[in-house]
Amino acid sequence: YSRIPSDEVPTFKLILVGDGGIGKTTFVNRHLTAKLSKKYIAAVGAEVYTMTFNVNGNRKIRFDLWDTTGQEKVGGLRDNYFSEGQCAMIMFDVTSRTTYDNVPDWFKQITRVCGYIPTVIVGNKVDAKSRVVQPKDIDFHRNTYLQYYDISAKSNYNFKKPFLHLARKLFDDDDLEFEAEDTLALPDINIDKQMMIQYEQQLRECAYDD
Ligand code: GDP
Ligand code: MG
Repeated sequence: YSRIPSDEVPTFKLILVGDGGIGKTTFVNRHLTAKLSKKYIAAVGAEVYTMTFNVNGNRKIRFDLWDTTGQEKVGGLRDNYFSEGQCAMIMFDVTSRTTYDNVPDWFKQITRVCGYIPTVIVGNKVDAKSRVVQPKDIDFHRNTYLQYYDISAKSNYNFKKPFLHLARKLFDDDDLEFEAEDTLALPDINIDKQMMIQYEQQLRECAYDD
């Protein structure tokens, strides 16, 4: 009854996509062990981070998380970035309407190369007072049966939620939980908890209004 040896940990390629400047690289680097594991894949021009979570029932899951090195800002991501992706995270920035409007296009690019793989959408920078994409505006995931979370990379708010959602889909286990761990960087900013409670309430209301 011991831990699974690391070479037997189920491992999944996780593609992180979204427009430039929305906080993708900041988000990934919050996870301190992942940050240390970073490897550059020259053929693709991507950085790959290894992120392992302990799961209830003496299990582990490992994501090989692919981040761009800025190609999305100049001409876009090539197919080899997506190829053999097993799950995906599409990020946008709640302070920029354009980055939300581009979410369907990112989704299309994923499905074109990978088919329908477990995918989660995250709206970053919810700490910002200049939020323009409000909870009631976020409806793409409702039409497409995707999961959505508000996040804030700088405050660690909801950091683990998107990974937990993907792990549940990949293991086909809705009761899956992550064991507590504290490998995250200290928050750069403190989130306004009252504001987050309001956003959470608004997101819940949206989920049932159609
Ligand atoms: P990428 O191009 O998508 O990888 O974005 P970066 O990680 O380089 O971040 C772009 C900018 O957004 C940087 O100035 C970050 O400091 C800022 N940023 C990232 N995450 C957050 C966040 O959660 N809140 C706020 N307010 N700013 C953030
Ligand atoms: Mg980046």
